[in-house]
Amino acid sequence: MDKLPTRFNPAELARSGRATQITLPVSHFARFSAILADDSGDVVIDAKFGWTEDRLPVATGTQTSNVNLSCQRCLQALASELTSQFSLVFIASEADAAELPEEIDPVVMGDSDDIHVVDFIEDELILQLPARVIHEDESDCDPAVIAALRNQAAEKPGEKEAPAGTHNPFKGLDELLK
Ligand SMILES: [Zn+2]
Repeated sequence: MDKLPTRFNPAELARSGRATQITLPVSHFARFSAILADDSGDVVIDAKFGWTEDRLPVATGTQTSNVNLSCQRCLQALASELTSQFSLVFIASEADAAELPEEIDPVVMGDSDDIHVVDFIEDELILQLPARVIHEDESDCDPAVIAALRNQAAEKPGEKEAPAGTHNPFKGLDELLK
């Protein structure tokens, strides 16, 4: 298996039909790491290049990222391995994207013949982040946050303990009706 260069030409790789791999630190992905608890960890990308029926370069493969997600209850790090399969088609412009079938995920190249691996895979990394991130076992959460939640619940008898981050749209209304 070849090493995928950090900048590559998808059409060239498609012509060779190469299977490639690259490991990048999470810290190289600015938008992705901004959503995480910190920028430690690695992303491993396996990609095989070929052509679609319409002769567009396509990269098919898997990515596995070992990252620290941010727990939505206590905001502390939660080590996770995320993996997903992708099939990404390289196109010149957003206008070309409109003509693609819905199930195809495009990567817009712009005027350039080559692309940086971060621009190629970062959207995929962000899209496969789980919507709900929480320490499964409450005892893994930051004890100070858990204690604060308990106190909050104790101060308001009759109200059920809501998980942190739960937004109550009627809270303001409640106040008005008093
Ligand atoms: Zn937690």
